[in-house]
Amino acid sequence: MAEIRIENLRKQFGDFAAVENSTFVTHDGEFLALLGPSGCGKTTTLRMIAGLELPTSGKIYLDGEDVTFNRASARDIAFVFQLFALYPHMNVRKNIGFPLLSQGVPKAEIRERVEETARLLQINHILDRSVSGLAGGDRQRVALGRAIVRRPKCFLMDEPLGTLDAEFREVMVHELRELHNRIHATTVYVTHDQHEAMAMADKIAVMNHGIIEQFGTPQEIYSRPATMYVADFIGSPPMNFLRFTSGLQKGAHSVSLGDVEVGVPEVREDMAVGELALGVRPEHIRFSDASALRGSVYGSEYLGTNQIVAVETANGLIKARLPANRNFRIGETVGLEFNQAKLALFDCKSGRAVPSSLYSEALHG
Ligand code: ATP
Repeated sequence: MAEIRIENLRKQFGDFAAVENSTFVTHDGEFLALLGPSGCGKTTTLRMIAGLELPTSGKIYLDGEDVTFNRASARDIAFVFQLFALYPHMNVRKNIGFPLLSQGVPKAEIRERVEETARLLQINHILDRSVSGLAGGDRQRVALGRAIVRRPKCFLMDEPLGTLDAEFREVMVHELRELHNRIHATTVYVTHDQHEAMAMADKIAVMNHGIIEQFGTPQEIYSRPATMYVADFIGSPPMNFLRFTSGLQKGAHSVSLGDVEVGVPEVREDMAVGELALGVRPEHIRFSDASALRGSVYGSEYLGTNQIVAVETANGLIKARLPANRNFRIGETVGLEFNQAKLALFDCKSGRAVPSSLYSEALHG
């Protein structure tokens, strides 16, 4: 298997920069998700790694070897597309074995490797069936089998579950991660779906307009978003932002939201006066009559085990995730208390997290 190293990768289409200065490493056996909305440069990044698109500048290393200008066929990478094109006139066995046949691998070895792959994917019972009669999930597995059978150095996957319905997608997310745990193939996986990325990846690169906003583990990205964009993109509902204007001094332990002082993780750098935002995830809010931060209930969304309650405050609408066992009246006045240790602070102008005791390790470590 292989390490993929990307250095200052850039792709320009005419005047438009689709990917700007991307730098990251996917270690041997790691699963990286490139996550972001449509048009942010995920596919272009993947196509450059595959050798299907030449970068405008920057370098791509596969296991330490500079492959930036190598042809796709010389890179020993398997690319799994969104639409799995299987050969309808061939059975499952022949579909999976086809890449080996084209490489001139001896028949006995093809048979052995196809059967080993089918066992791994738990489709050995359908090897002699025609692919045209297969259900969606089995078709996906056959297509994966065709990619795995070559034993490539790494896998690149572009929204492979994009066309599936929600229920089946969940099954395949679990299966793909299971498969990864078994074969430990270095994988770069493109998706716009945060749930897929969080559930499968060891590392996530969150992209926005061709730029990697944050690269880290799912836990780091969720609990210490480096920018307001990441905080807003990840989480459902996303992080709440309470905007305020103030100067913040190094060592400060609280911020003033109007008349209300809210405790925050220790601020590590002086911040000039400007617009700042306090970031709080819905699950880090509870209702407390003692809190000076007041608001009125705007609405609630029942989710079974919990509920999302929206509260109108002087700092805007705030959504809290609360136990489902209490009913709230629309217009009811409530006090909001935040879990201080989990609060984030952002500079609204740059959109970046303000260095604090919560963030210092993530941003400067
Ligand atoms: P999607 O999920 O919609 O494919 P993405 O994040 O994968 O989104 P890319 O396909 O990488 O985005 O495209 C990034 C930007 O580059 C888009 O604005 C797209 O229109 C543009 N782009 C991609 N390929 C080309 C091309 N060959 N010529 C011109 N512009 C391109």
